[in-house]
Amino acid sequence: MNSIFLKSAAVAFASVAASLLLTLIVVPAMGFPVSRTIWLSSTVCPLVLAWVASASTFWQSDRLKSAHRELARAHAQLAAAHRRLQEKASRDDMTGMLNRESFFAALDGSRRKSDRGALLIIDADHFKRINDSFGHLTGDEALLLIASAIERGVRGGDILGRIGGEEFAAYLIGATEQEAKRVAERIRREVELIRFRPVDERTIPLTVSIGGTLCGEDAHVSDLMRAADRRLYQAKHRGRNLTILDADIQAAA
Ligand code: GH3
Ligand code: MG
Ligand code: MG
Repeated sequence: MNSIFLKSAAVAFASVAASLLLTLIVVPAMGFPVSRTIWLSSTVCPLVLAWVASASTFWQSDRLKSAHRELARAHAQLAAAHRRLQEKASRDDMTGMLNRESFFAALDGSRRKSDRGALLIIDADHFKRINDSFGHLTGDEALLLIASAIERGVRGGDILGRIGGEEFAAYLIGATEQEAKRVAERIRREVELIRFRPVDERTIPLTVSIGGTLCGEDAHVSDLMRAADRRLYQAKHRGRNLTILDADIQAAA
């Protein structure tokens, strides 16, 4: 407010100075004397008019600036909320892992990288039995334990997704075949080590079967899924609680 007063005062006095200068040049040039009335009107008029007009303009401009600042703040808050919503929409509510669409998008985004890594599909074994024996809520508890075991098994930076009810996927960025095998085996072991006691002292075994494939440069997500799924099917077929990757199939063939 103070600065508006000072700025508009400066404009008003500048206007008075300009008005006086003009009066002192124009009026004598027209052959009239510079009377007291002319002095007065060329001082008071610009003083009042310029002060009021410039104060109003500066006030409006200040309001506009503060409205602009508010708008920028609201915009930043909206952008942050949008980012949070986007992040939430890309995740599975139960496990916090990426959901199916986001996981596939991440995998697809890695195309055309020569050291793309490996894809693992991890499926809980005989999970229906757990639901049937102990109920869906206990099944959920078991799923959360399996999800945590998978998280412990992967390396920092690997991407995890829940791609189906009791089916997870891990994208092991830049992993070689040896590394992928090591990680898959670590996940399988971590799940096997879970001591799940939902009702009494009896431990309910939890296991997963894992199928994996190396991600060839340029290979489509659907091709990679198909390849890993084939290995998973083999693992199930060979008795479950097993990991099978590309080379294992060749070795077995
Ligand atoms: P397999 O070893 O062949 O994979 O046998 P499975 O019983 O795990 O496979 P199946 O496909 O027959 O059954 C999957 C079960 O997983 C059935 C379904 O109710 C259960 N399931 C899927 N999503 C959830 C979930 O979010 N919570 C619970 N509690 N169960 C789930
Ligand atoms: Mg299953
Ligand atoms: Mg399944």
